[in-house]
Amino acid sequence: MISPSQVKKLLDRHGFQLKRSLGQNFLIDANILNRIVEGAEIKEDDNVLEVGPGIGSLTRALARVCAKVVAVEIDRALFPILDETLKDYDNAYIIHGDILKIDLGKIMTEYFEGEPFKVVANLPYYITSPILMTFLESDLPYEDITVMVQSEVADRIMATPGTKDYGLLTVAINYYAEVFFIAKVPPSVFMPRPKVSSQVIKLVRKADHMLDKSAEELFFQVIKAAFSKRRKTLLNALSSYPSIKKIGDKVYIREILGKANIDPARRGETLDYEEFACIAQILRQHLSPYDI
Ligand code: SAM
Repeated sequence: MISPSQVKKLLDRHGFQLKRSLGQNFLIDANILNRIVEGAEIKEDDNVLEVGPGIGSLTRALARVCAKVVAVEIDRALFPILDETLKDYDNAYIIHGDILKIDLGKIMTEYFEGEPFKVVANLPYYITSPILMTFLESDLPYEDITVMVQSEVADRIMATPGTKDYGLLTVAINYYAEVFFIAKVPPSVFMPRPKVSSQVIKLVRKADHMLDKSAEELFFQVIKAAFSKRRKTLLNALSSYPSIKKIGDKVYIREILGKANIDPARRGETLDYEEFACIAQILRQHLSPYDI
C-alpha cells in the first residue's frame, strides 16, 4: 500500500476523492513512517492516539509496535479503506469525529482506561496549532506528542526570542512542553505533494507547569498582549491591551515589570517564556481572588 501506484489503485478502487480542504496528504514513504515511529519511541505496552489516520499507513506502522492505537478520523469516506488496510490489526481502533470537538476524555477512559498515552500524527495542516493546543492545555494524561507539521510551523515552534518566527505559538508551546526536532521531510513523500516541506517534531510534556490555573490565564493574556503589538515596548503593549488595561494603568504595569526585573522598554518578542510566566505570577500576586 505504500508506493504511489498502490495508493492510487486503493483510492480508485474505493472511488475515493481526496479532499485538500481536510489536509489530506497521505504518506507514501516507508522510511519516513519508520522515522516517525522511531522518533515517538513507542514501546510494546504503549497506548497511542493518532489524529487523522487517512488510509492507515501510519496507523499500521504504529499498531505493529504498540499495545493499542486509537485513531480519530473526520472523513467517513475513508472508513471502507481503513477497514481494508487495518483488517489484520486487531489493536487498531478507528473513531469517527473531529479531533477538536470529540470528547477526548471519554475516549481515553473507554480505550486506555485513563492510562497515559502518546500522541502520534501526520497532522492536517489547516488546524495544526489548535490540535497541539488542545492536547497541551488539557488535563489528559498524554506523555508526548510526535507530529509531522509544515516546516514553517516547526520553525515557529522552535524559534528563539528576538527572531521573526518567535511568537505566541512558540511561547505557548514552550510553556507546556520541551520541543525536539526529529526529521526534515520533503514534499515528495506525500500524495498529493504539498507545496511546502515538513518536519517531524516531538513535544515532551513538562512534568510541572510553572503557574497555577489563574496565573496561567494571565500568562496567556500577557503573551497575547505582547505579540499583538510586536513593535511596541512591553510597557505600551501591555498597558494598551484591553484585558490587561482593566487590571491596572501604565504606572501599575511599570511597577509589575519592575518587580519581575524586566526592562519596560524591551519589546515583548525578546522575552522567553519564563520571563512571561514571571510577569503573570507577579500580576496574579497583586490581584485579589475576586479580580480573576
Ligand atoms: N495519517 C495519514 C498519513 O500519514 O498518510 C493521513 C494524514 S493527512 C495529513 C491528515 C488526516 O487528518 C486526513 O485523513 C484527514 O481526513 C484527517 N483530518 C482532517 N481534519 C480532521 C479533524 N478535524 N479531525 C480528525 N481528522 C481530521
